[in-house]
Amino acid sequence: MPTSDGETYGFKYVNGHPKNTAEGLQTVTAFGVLASVDTGYPLLLSEMTVLTALRTAATSALAARYLAPTGARVMAMIGNGAQCEFQALAFQQICGIDTLRLYDIDARATDKAARNLARSGLTVIPCASAQEAVTGAQIITTCTADKQYATILTDNMVGSGQHINAIGGDCPGKTELHRDILLRSDIFVEFPPQTRIEGEIQQLGPDHPVTELWQVMTGRAPGRTNADQITLFDSVGFATEDFSALRYVRDRLEDTGYYVNLDLLADPDDPRDLFGMVARAGGA
Ligand code: NAD
Repeated sequence: MPTSDGETYGFKYVNGHPKNTAEGLQTVTAFGVLASVDTGYPLLLSEMTVLTALRTAATSALAARYLAPTGARVMAMIGNGAQCEFQALAFQQICGIDTLRLYDIDARATDKAARNLARSGLTVIPCASAQEAVTGAQIITTCTADKQYATILTDNMVGSGQHINAIGGDCPGKTELHRDILLRSDIFVEFPPQTRIEGEIQQLGPDHPVTELWQVMTGRAPGRTNADQITLFDSVGFATEDFSALRYVRDRLEDTGYYVNLDLLADPDDPRDLFGMVARAGGA
Protein backbone atom coordinates (compact mmCIF):
# COMPACT_ATOMS: atom_id res chain seq x y z
CA MET A 1 0.00 0.00 0.00
CA PRO A 2 2.12 2.93 -1.28
CA THR A 3 1.55 6.68 -0.95
CA SER A 4 3.41 9.98 -0.94
CA ASP A 5 2.90 13.65 -0.13
CA GLY A 6 5.75 14.75 -2.41
CA GLU A 7 8.22 15.04 0.48
CA THR A 8 7.97 11.60 1.98
CA TYR A 9 7.17 8.28 0.34
CA GLY A 10 5.75 5.41 2.35
CA PHE A 11 4.49 1.90 1.85
CA LYS A 12 3.07 -0.90 3.94
CA TYR A 13 3.58 -4.55 3.14
CA VAL A 14 0.59 -6.46 4.54
CA ASN A 15 -0.92 -9.92 4.13
CA GLY A 16 -4.44 -11.24 4.83
CA HIS A 17 -4.49 -14.98 5.49
CA PRO A 18 -7.47 -16.13 7.64
CA LYS A 19 -6.35 -19.77 7.38
CA ASN A 20 -3.16 -18.86 9.27
CA THR A 21 -4.88 -18.90 12.67
CA ALA A 22 -5.43 -22.67 12.47
CA GLU A 23 -1.66 -23.06 12.08
CA GLY A 24 -0.83 -20.78 15.01
CA LEU A 25 0.00 -17.82 12.77
CA GLN A 26 -1.56 -14.37 12.54
CA THR A 27 -4.18 -13.41 9.92
CA VAL A 28 -2.67 -9.94 9.38
CA THR A 29 1.05 -9.09 9.61
CA ALA A 30 2.72 -5.99 8.27
CA PHE A 31 5.80 -3.81 8.15
CA GLY A 32 6.29 -0.40 6.59
CA VAL A 33 8.89 2.03 5.29
CA LEU A 34 9.13 5.81 5.09
CA ALA A 35 11.62 7.34 2.68
CA SER A 36 12.70 10.79 1.52
CA VAL A 37 11.39 11.62 -1.96
CA ASP A 38 14.28 14.07 -2.45
CA THR A 39 17.09 11.56 -1.89
CA GLY A 40 15.27 8.24 -2.02
CA TYR A 41 16.94 7.36 1.28
CA PRO A 42 14.85 5.27 3.69
CA LEU A 43 14.06 7.13 6.92
CA LEU A 44 12.22 4.54 8.96
CA LEU A 45 11.53 0.82 8.85
CA SER A 46 8.75 -0.10 11.27
CA GLU A 47 6.70 -3.11 12.30
CA MET A 48 3.10 -2.43 11.31
CA THR A 49 1.04 -5.32 12.65
CA VAL A 50 0.31 -3.41 15.85
CA LEU A 51 0.28 -0.13 13.96
CA THR A 52 -2.38 -1.47 11.57
CA ALA A 53 -4.60 -2.44 14.51
CA LEU A 54 -4.12 1.04 16.01
CA ARG A 55 -4.77 2.97 12.79
CA THR A 56 -7.78 0.82 11.88
CA ALA A 57 -9.32 1.34 15.30
CA ALA A 58 -8.61 5.07 15.18
CA THR A 59 -10.20 5.39 11.72
CA SER A 60 -13.27 3.37 12.74
CA ALA A 61 -13.85 5.44 15.86
CA LEU A 62 -13.28 8.67 13.94
CA ALA A 63 -15.90 7.64 11.37
CA ALA A 64 -18.32 6.74 14.16
CA ARG A 65 -17.90 10.19 15.69
CA TYR A 66 -19.63 11.54 12.59
CA LEU A 67 -22.00 8.66 11.88
CA ALA A 68 -23.07 6.88 15.08
CA PRO A 69 -26.33 7.91 16.77
CA THR A 70 -26.02 10.57 19.44
CA GLY A 71 -25.46 9.11 22.89
CA ALA A 72 -24.44 5.64 21.63
CA ARG A 73 -23.13 3.63 24.59
CA VAL A 74 -23.39 -0.01 23.54
CA MET A 75 -21.31 -1.65 20.81
CA ALA A 76 -21.63 -5.21 19.51
CA MET A 77 -18.29 -6.65 18.42
CA ILE A 78 -18.58 -9.67 16.13
CA GLY A 79 -15.21 -11.31 15.58
CA ASN A 80 -13.00 -11.15 18.66
CA GLY A 81 -9.58 -11.72 17.09
CA ALA A 82 -6.49 -9.54 16.89
CA GLN A 83 -8.30 -6.26 16.06
CA CYS A 84 -11.01 -6.59 18.71
CA GLU A 85 -9.57 -4.93 21.82
CA PHE A 86 -8.04 -2.08 19.79
CA GLN A 87 -11.45 -1.34 18.29
CA ALA A 88 -13.14 -1.54 21.70
CA LEU A 89 -10.72 0.87 23.39
CA ALA A 90 -10.84 3.36 20.52
CA PHE A 91 -14.64 3.44 20.64
CA GLN A 92 -14.51 3.85 24.42
CA GLN A 93 -12.05 6.74 24.24
CA ILE A 94 -13.32 8.55 21.15
CA CYS A 95 -17.04 7.76 21.09
CA GLY A 96 -17.90 7.17 24.77
CA ILE A 97 -18.91 3.51 24.47
CA ASP A 98 -19.31 1.97 27.93
CA THR A 99 -20.67 -1.51 27.11
CA LEU A 100 -19.31 -4.12 24.72
CA ARG A 101 -21.27 -7.18 23.59
CA LEU A 102 -18.84 -9.80 22.27
CA TYR A 103 -19.44 -12.70 19.88
CA ASP A 104 -17.06 -15.02 18.01
CA ILE A 105 -17.63 -18.50 16.55
CA ASP A 106 -14.61 -19.51 18.63
CA ALA A 107 -15.39 -18.98 22.33
CA ARG A 108 -11.65 -18.90 23.11
CA ALA A 109 -11.36 -15.64 21.17
CA THR A 110 -14.20 -14.10 23.18
CA ASP A 111 -12.63 -15.28 26.47
CA LYS A 112 -9.30 -13.76 25.40
CA ALA A 113 -10.90 -10.39 24.57
CA ALA A 114 -12.95 -10.33 27.78
CA ARG A 115 -9.81 -11.08 29.80
CA ASN A 116 -7.78 -8.36 28.08
CA LEU A 117 -10.55 -5.80 28.59
CA ALA A 118 -11.30 -6.75 32.22
CA ARG A 119 -9.65 -3.60 33.60
CA SER A 120 -10.67 -1.26 30.78
CA GLY A 121 -13.73 0.15 32.54
CA LEU A 122 -15.98 -1.28 29.83
CA THR A 123 -18.86 -3.56 30.80
CA VAL A 124 -18.07 -6.63 28.71
CA ILE A 125 -20.86 -9.09 27.91
CA PRO A 126 -19.99 -12.35 26.11
CA CYS A 127 -22.89 -13.47 23.89
CA ALA A 128 -23.88 -16.87 22.49
CA SER A 129 -24.75 -15.65 18.98
CA ALA A 130 -24.34 -12.68 16.67
CA GLN A 131 -28.08 -12.08 17.01
CA GLU A 132 -27.75 -11.86 20.80
CA ALA A 133 -24.71 -9.58 20.51
CA VAL A 134 -26.47 -6.95 18.38
CA THR A 135 -29.50 -6.78 20.68
CA GLY A 136 -29.60 -3.34 22.26
CA ALA A 137 -26.42 -2.15 20.51
CA GLN A 138 -26.36 1.24 18.80
CA ILE A 139 -23.07 0.40 17.05
CA ILE A 140 -22.21 -2.93 15.42
CA THR A 141 -18.61 -3.70 14.49
CA THR A 142 -18.02 -6.72 12.27
CA CYS A 143 -14.40 -7.87 12.29
CA THR A 144 -14.31 -11.48 11.18
CA ALA A 145 -11.81 -13.14 8.90
CA ASP A 146 -12.90 -15.55 6.20
CA LYS A 147 -12.06 -15.47 2.49
CA GLN A 148 -15.61 -15.73 1.23
CA TYR A 149 -18.88 -13.89 0.79
CA ALA A 150 -19.98 -14.49 4.39
CA THR A 151 -23.18 -13.31 6.03
CA ILE A 152 -22.22 -12.25 9.52
CA LEU A 153 -25.21 -9.90 9.69
CA THR A 154 -28.53 -10.71 8.05
CA ASP A 155 -31.04 -8.01 7.20
CA ASN A 156 -33.33 -8.71 10.17
CA MET A 157 -30.44 -8.18 12.64
CA VAL A 158 -30.04 -4.49 11.79
CA GLY A 159 -32.61 -1.99 13.03
CA SER A 160 -33.23 1.66 12.24
CA GLY A 161 -30.79 4.12 13.74
CA GLN A 162 -27.85 1.72 14.08
CA HIS A 163 -24.33 2.44 12.89
CA ILE A 164 -22.37 -0.44 11.33
CA ASN A 165 -18.59 -0.41 11.35
CA ALA A 166 -17.69 -3.14 8.84
CA ILE A 167 -13.98 -3.94 9.05
CA GLY A 168 -13.53 -7.54 7.96
CA GLY A 169 -14.68 -7.39 4.32
CA ASP A 170 -11.55 -5.84 2.88
CA CYS A 171 -10.56 -7.67 -0.28
CA PRO A 172 -12.20 -9.00 -3.46
CA GLY A 173 -14.45 -11.99 -2.73
CA LYS A 174 -14.67 -11.24 1.01
CA THR A 175 -17.72 -9.59 2.58
CA GLU A 176 -19.62 -9.80 5.88
CA LEU A 177 -23.01 -8.15 5.38
CA HIS A 178 -26.10 -9.37 3.55
CA ARG A 179 -26.67 -7.23 0.46
CA ASP A 180 -30.13 -6.13 1.68
CA ILE A 181 -28.49 -4.29 4.60
CA LEU A 182 -26.47 -2.24 2.12
CA LEU A 183 -29.63 -1.28 0.26
CA ARG A 184 -31.13 0.15 3.49
CA SER A 185 -27.97 1.99 4.57
CA ASP A 186 -26.27 5.28 3.85
CA ILE A 187 -22.76 4.14 2.97
CA PHE A 188 -19.54 5.96 3.82
CA VAL A 189 -16.15 4.91 2.43
CA GLU A 190 -12.48 5.85 2.45
CA PHE A 191 -11.88 5.92 -1.33
CA PRO A 192 -14.65 4.73 -3.71
CA PRO A 193 -12.49 3.18 -6.49
CA GLN A 194 -10.77 0.94 -3.91
CA THR A 195 -13.86 0.19 -1.83
CA ARG A 196 -15.93 -0.83 -4.85
CA ILE A 197 -13.39 -3.61 -5.47
CA GLU A 198 -12.57 -4.59 -1.88
CA GLY A 199 -15.44 -3.55 0.38
CA GLU A 200 -18.99 -4.61 1.17
CA ILE A 201 -20.13 -2.55 -1.82
CA GLN A 202 -18.51 -5.00 -4.24
CA GLN A 203 -21.97 -6.61 -3.90
CA LEU A 204 -23.60 -3.50 -5.46
CA GLY A 205 -23.50 -1.91 -8.90
CA PRO A 206 -20.69 0.52 -9.81
CA ASP A 207 -23.01 3.54 -9.56
CA HIS A 208 -24.54 2.86 -6.17
CA PRO A 209 -24.21 6.14 -4.23
CA VAL A 210 -21.58 6.36 -1.50
CA THR A 211 -20.12 9.29 0.43
CA GLU A 212 -16.40 9.75 1.06
CA LEU A 213 -15.64 10.15 4.74
CA TRP A 214 -13.40 13.17 4.19
CA GLN A 215 -16.37 15.03 2.70
CA VAL A 216 -18.32 14.53 5.91
CA MET A 217 -15.35 15.54 8.04
CA THR A 218 -14.88 18.77 6.10
CA GLY A 219 -18.60 19.64 6.10
CA ARG A 220 -19.06 19.14 2.34
CA ALA A 221 -21.51 16.25 2.76
CA PRO A 222 -23.87 15.29 5.56
CA GLY A 223 -23.10 12.34 7.83
CA ARG A 224 -25.92 11.20 10.08
CA THR A 225 -28.94 13.41 9.53
CA ASN A 226 -31.62 11.66 11.59
CA ALA A 227 -32.14 9.14 14.36
CA ASP A 228 -33.69 6.46 12.11
CA GLN A 229 -30.96 6.37 9.47
CA ILE A 230 -28.77 3.25 9.20
CA THR A 231 -25.20 4.35 8.59
CA LEU A 232 -22.47 2.02 7.34
CA PHE A 233 -18.75 2.68 7.38
CA ASP A 234 -17.45 0.22 4.77
CA SER A 235 -13.82 0.11 5.90
CA VAL A 236 -11.15 -1.51 3.74
CA GLY A 237 -8.01 0.27 5.01
CA PHE A 238 -6.54 3.05 2.90
CA ALA A 239 -2.85 3.78 2.28
CA THR A 240 -2.97 7.32 3.73
CA GLU A 241 -3.96 5.83 7.11
CA ASP A 242 -0.72 3.85 7.11
CA PHE A 243 1.23 6.85 5.87
CA SER A 244 -0.12 8.95 8.74
CA ALA A 245 0.66 6.20 11.24
CA LEU A 246 4.25 5.89 9.99
CA ARG A 247 4.79 9.65 10.10
CA TYR A 248 3.30 9.74 13.61
CA VAL A 249 5.79 7.08 14.76
CA ARG A 250 8.66 8.98 13.13
CA ASP A 251 7.60 12.25 14.80
CA ARG A 252 7.28 10.59 18.20
CA LEU A 253 10.66 8.89 17.85
CA GLU A 254 12.51 12.00 16.75
CA ASP A 255 12.76 13.41 20.28
CA THR A 256 13.63 10.13 21.98
CA GLY A 257 17.12 9.51 20.64
CA TYR A 258 15.96 6.10 19.36
CA TYR A 259 15.42 7.45 15.87
CA VAL A 260 18.71 6.57 14.23
CA ASN A 261 19.00 6.24 10.50
CA LEU A 262 22.46 4.74 10.30
CA ASP A 263 22.05 0.98 10.48
CA LEU A 264 19.58 0.88 7.61
CA LEU A 265 22.09 1.86 4.94
CA ALA A 266 25.58 1.11 3.76
CA ASP A 267 27.56 4.26 4.53
CA PRO A 268 30.81 4.45 2.51
CA ASP A 269 33.08 7.44 3.28
CA ASP A 270 33.33 8.09 -0.47
CA PRO A 271 29.81 7.54 -1.91
CA ARG A 272 31.32 6.00 -5.03
CA ASP A 273 33.63 3.65 -3.16
CA LEU A 274 31.11 1.05 -2.07
CA PHE A 275 33.47 -1.79 -2.98
CA GLY A 276 36.26 -0.25 -0.94
CA MET A 277 33.99 -0.06 2.12
CA VAL A 278 33.12 -3.75 1.80
CA ALA A 279 36.74 -4.69 1.20
CA ARG A 280 37.96 -2.74 4.25
CA ALA A 281 35.22 -4.25 6.44
CA GLY A 282 36.42 -7.70 5.30
CA GLY A 283 40.01 -6.81 6.13
CA ALA A 284 41.11 -6.99 2.45
P1 NAD B 1 -8.23 -12.65 13.38
O1 NAD B 1 -8.06 -13.86 12.54
O2 NAD B 1 -7.28 -12.40 14.49
O3 NAD B 1 -9.72 -12.64 14.02
C1 NAD B 1 -10.84 -12.94 13.27
C2 NAD B 1 -11.88 -13.57 14.20
O4 NAD B 1 -13.10 -13.75 13.46
C3 NAD B 1 -11.47 -14.95 14.71
O5 NAD B 1 -11.46 -14.97 16.13
C4 NAD B 1 -12.54 -15.90 14.14
O6 NAD B 1 -12.86 -16.97 15.01
C5 NAD B 1 -13.71 -14.93 13.96
N1 NAD B 1 -14.74 -15.37 13.03
C6 NAD B 1 -14.58 -15.94 11.80
N2 NAD B 1 -15.79 -16.18 11.24
C7 NAD B 1 -16.72 -15.74 12.13
C8 NAD B 1 -18.15 -15.71 12.13
N3 NAD B 1 -18.84 -16.20 11.11
N4 NAD B 1 -18.78 -15.16 13.20
C9 NAD B 1 -18.08 -14.68 14.26
N5 NAD B 1 -16.73 -14.69 14.32
C10 NAD B 1 -16.06 -15.22 13.27
O7 NAD B 1 -8.25 -11.42 12.36
P2 NAD B 1 -8.11 -9.86 12.69
O8 NAD B 1 -6.69 -9.43 12.62
O9 NAD B 1 -8.92 -9.52 13.91
O10 NAD B 1 -8.82 -9.25 11.39
C11 NAD B 1 -10.20 -9.46 11.16
C12 NAD B 1 -10.54 -9.04 9.75
O11 NAD B 1 -10.37 -7.63 9.62
C13 NAD B 1 -9.63 -9.66 8.68
O12 NAD B 1 -10.45 -10.05 7.60
C14 NAD B 1 -8.70 -8.54 8.25
O13 NAD B 1 -8.29 -8.65 6.91
C15 NAD B 1 -9.61 -7.35 8.46
N6 NAD B 1 -8.90 -6.10 8.69
C16 NAD B 1 -9.37 -4.99 8.07
C17 NAD B 1 -8.75 -3.78 8.27
C18 NAD B 1 -9.29 -2.55 7.62
O14 NAD B 1 -8.61 -1.52 7.55
N7 NAD B 1 -10.51 -2.57 7.15
C19 NAD B 1 -7.62 -3.68 9.10
C20 NAD B 1 -7.17 -4.83 9.75
C21 NAD B 1 -7.82 -6.04 9.54
